[in-house]
Amino acid sequence: MFGNPADRASPNRNAILSAKRRAFRYCMFANTYGGTTSSGVAELPGNDFMVTLGGFDPPGGTANEQAATFMHEMGHTLGLYHGGHQIEWSNDRRYNYKPNYRSIMNYSWQLADTRPGWALDYSRSALPSLNEAQLDEIAGIGGALNTVVLVGPVPAREAFEIGGVDWSRNGTIDTTLIAADANHLYPSDPASDGDVLEGSEDWSHLLYNFRSSPNYASGSSPESTIDQVEMTAELDDFIDSLYTGGCAADFNADTTLDFFDYLDFVDVFAASASNADFNADTVVDFFDYLDFVAAFAAGC
Ligand SMILES: [Zn+2]
Repeated sequence: MFGNPADRASPNRNAILSAKRRAFRYCMFANTYGGTTSSGVAELPGNDFMVTLGGFDPPGGTANEQAATFMHEMGHTLGLYHGGHQIEWSNDRRYNYKPNYRSIMNYSWQLADTRPGWALDYSRSALPSLNEAQLDEIAGIGGALNTVVLVGPVPAREAFEIGGVDWSRNGTIDTTLIAADANHLYPSDPASDGDVLEGSEDWSHLLYNFRSSPNYASGSSPESTIDQVEMTAELDDFIDSLYTGGCAADFNADTTLDFFDYLDFVDVFAASASNADFNADTVVDFFDYLDFVAAFAAGC
């Protein structure tokens, strides 16, 4: 219901509510919608959005998850896409997961509140663009020290924002330029090679005035994130599983890469335990072993 009780009880309510409609956004915290665990939905741009964390663990989400999803969905009403202001309306996931876009709008960061570098914020600066046809392993990504991001292609890996990035995955930082689908993390998303992934600064691109949007009118929303799959509990679990604290080969996460990491991996691999799914393709098989050995050989 729009407006507060005092507004609605006022003899001047029509004027008050009509004035508020011209500037206020409306948000509903609800359980779930559409039979999925989707975390929310928003008009893009527009004035209505929902936060729906009922399918998360704990049900309703943590305080940070609620705040982050509120800001993410509100960001859509303010005109931000999953790649910031790099837009392809019909295929927005193409620019999701950009390693060079640290924003609450990027699924890699939306619910990453336990990781260094996370902030309840939109992006405050545009990092250098990444040309997926010609990635520079020495230049890396840019950004902040000790901040780990996820990079494609599938299977996704971690990389530091500052420092070289082994896009070719040959264990060394090459001086030749490399082609790689740098933001393809989720296996069931279509590949999107060859894009220029633009850095994006969000705050100067916010669209505060929604009155020219077709979504301004009450009723159905011609343009909304309902056409896409917003962050789900399952996707959040998948993204969490990709983070190891900065070095996947440090399997026992004791910050030292040594033979005990190898032994620990072999133990879980022999047991076909789920954390032996080193390449995160949901199957524990010999490729996980090969990828672990390659990561171990490459070092941290
Ligand atoms: Zn979204």
